Amino acid sequence: MPELPEVETIKRDLEKNIIGHKVIDVWYDWAKTLKPDPETFEKAVVGKKFKDINRRAKLFIFHLDSVPMVVHLKMTGRLLYRDQSDPKDQFTHAIFKLDKGKELRFADLRKFGWLKVLKDEKELENLLSEFGPEPLTEEFTLKVFENIIKKSQLKIKPLLIDQKRIAGVGNIYADESLWCAKIHPETKADKILSDQVAKLYKCIEEVLKEGIKDRGTSVDQYLDLFGRKGSHEQNLKVFRLNGDPCPRCGTIIKKIRVGGRGTHVCPACQRL
Ligand SMILES: [Zn+2]
Repeated sequence: MPELPEVETIKRDLEKNIIGHKVIDVWYDWAKTLKPDPETFEKAVVGKKFKDINRRAKLFIFHLDSVPMVVHLKMTGRLLYRDQSDPKDQFTHAIFKLDKGKELRFADLRKFGWLKVLKDEKELENLLSEFGPEPLTEEFTLKVFENIIKKSQLKIKPLLIDQKRIAGVGNIYADESLWCAKIHPETKADKILSDQVAKLYKCIEEVLKEGIKDRGTSVDQYLDLFGRKGSHEQNLKVFRLNGDPCPRCGTIIKKIRVGGRGTHVCPACQRL
């Protein structure tokens, strides 16, 4: 699933390319992609201009004139900015036909992703209030992070990927952050010592920044706005590297399951 660095990479490119474009028409072949329903969706966006684009957690937040629209890529969604004359993209289920011969395509192999127009700012506010603090912003201080960790008896891995507690971190960057901080993913959050919490805080920010610098990780279906892969796969330390030696100590990396999720650990660096 695209996480904070992947969504941020696409968001930054959308900012440079999509703003000012007018929506001429909407096409779709999978009704569940357009929420609340295709008719409402179409009526709300056709004739409007893309005014701004933001990101919160793994969500894109657009305004078409004053209409808020949110997009979630879920497991395998892609947003692709193309010329109308470009070859079709596989798994395309919705298209914004834009002015100037362009289009914004929504492609999704698994079809869990969606685009949703909201009634007003209030509905947007309610939706966004469900998320925890946003890493890489001023609100995500060490103090805030400590409070989240110290108050929880959850294992640290499920806590890190819980969007209600911390926004934007998913399976890839949680495993990488925990390896960086030498913390076992099954450690109970409230048992982690203060200096380790501080280390983990730094690691989360570092790992996310590296991911953004490399324009995301394309281990699954992720492609950027132009259909290109990110390069962070080459810089992963443990994620999907079970069977390989740990880059820090040489011990063979293991795959375990934590909270139902495949999780990658160095059994020597990250002890329970
Ligand atoms: Zn190791």
